[in-house]
Amino acid sequence: MPAVTTDNLLVLPRIPRLDPALARHRPVVQVVTAPKQLEGEGFQVRRPFPSVDLRTADPFLLLDHLGAVEYAPGEAKGAPWHPHRGFETVTYIMDGAFEHHDSTGGGGLIADGATQWMTAGAGILHDEMPPEWLVHKGGLFHGVQLWVNLPQTLKWTPPRYQDIGADKVVLVTSDDGGALVRLIAGDLAGQAGPGVTWTPITYVHASISPGAQLQVPWRPDFNALVYALSGVGSVGVEGRPLREGQLAVFGSGDALTIQADRRQDGRSPSLEVLLLGGHPIREPVAFYGPFVMNTHEEIVQAIQDFRTGRMGTIPATYLGR
Ligand code: MN
Repeated sequence: MPAVTTDNLLVLPRIPRLDPALARHRPVVQVVTAPKQLEGEGFQVRRPFPSVDLRTADPFLLLDHLGAVEYAPGEAKGAPWHPHRGFETVTYIMDGAFEHHDSTGGGGLIADGATQWMTAGAGILHDEMPPEWLVHKGGLFHGVQLWVNLPQTLKWTPPRYQDIGADKVVLVTSDDGGALVRLIAGDLAGQAGPGVTWTPITYVHASISPGAQLQVPWRPDFNALVYALSGVGSVGVEGRPLREGQLAVFGSGDALTIQADRRQDGRSPSLEVLLLGGHPIREPVAFYGPFVMNTHEEIVQAIQDFRTGRMGTIPATYLGR
């Protein structure tokens, strides 16, 4: 996959081996299979949360896994103009591309291992569409979009973007070189990822070779979620099975264990996982479509603000597209 990779894992910084006498391994409390549903113009996503209790995922609100899908010519779909308020969207594209435009006049291409971090904050309108060449020719598409909540004090922050190129992703490996660990945001084992987050989180994409085990230290004040993008393996020192499209929710402790099965299915040479953790916000959540606020009244206000153009308008250049 074009998500950033390397020919030689052994030259990367290594995550030190955990001290078995000291590590408090987090137990797996729940494994859920992500339900499938249609989004935008009708593309299928797998959505592991919010199908779990939102308090379990806090500060995360939603995870959409798009693909992997091989689009035939004319088939690629996206999400036309829509608003957001009250949180951040983080779009990570492993294969293929999304083009985006927004009501502030900003825009760009997210492709092949790049991440776009959009703080919607007080409100923004944007579209997220496959580029014309992808629609025309078809091709492989694989990405994820994560929604990170903002606390009440930051919901009205002005919108902003961070475009994190594939070359900015911090690469490390496990103590035996059996896993490629891409740090997209936050800290892991003394390394700092490129994403700057309002709410402290750690966001990792790891490729674990067949038969290899990845053990990482994990902040005890963070929650811990592991989602399998592809492949088969197990999680926790208890070895609970996990396969493509499943999310593992961990209990308390300060270390995570993920293991790839020796035999992987034909489509995926390794176990591909996202590791997600953050400091819970623990505020009331009023979640209505693209708006995430604290109260019902703020949702009513968001709908009014969107309808009256106070959340921004579609720039004339893109009208009618
Ligand atoms: Mn959006």
